[in-house]
Amino acid sequence: MRIQVDLSFFPDFMVPIITDSIELKQFLIEGNNVTRERKDDIDTIFTVFEFPGSIKEFEGLLYSILHKNSIKEYVIAQDMENENTIAILKSGDLKQLGILVCDFCGAVFHSEDEKYIHQRAHYFY
Ligand SMILES: [Zn+2]
Repeated sequence: MRIQVDLSFFPDFMVPIITDSIELKQFLIEGNNVTRERKDDIDTIFTVFEFPGSIKEFEGLLYSILHKNSIKEYVIAQDMENENTIAILKSGDLKQLGILVCDFCGAVFHSEDEKYIHQRAHYFY
């Protein structure tokens, strides 16, 4: 599956830690390492992988890369508005960016209501 990783909130100099990693480099789509786009006056930086496993497995690999490099201040979150998109966010910035994260699975929301409705679903499983 095609997985997009949003690096807009991740420092430029740290991007190669992910794009050059042994774990994920092989899944990068050739000639498409890092894309910069200007959308709604916001610079978006993202990279796209063609990954044979699930998005959860991909998240697991990303976590291990961050962990191995002692990057503790960033969290991995799934973007609920864009399918198969993962964002790497600085944990302290989440509130300022108006981003809310599910306490259970790390899914990302843009309003308290969305988060509440989503989190309720966890209690049923
Ligand atoms: Zn959740």
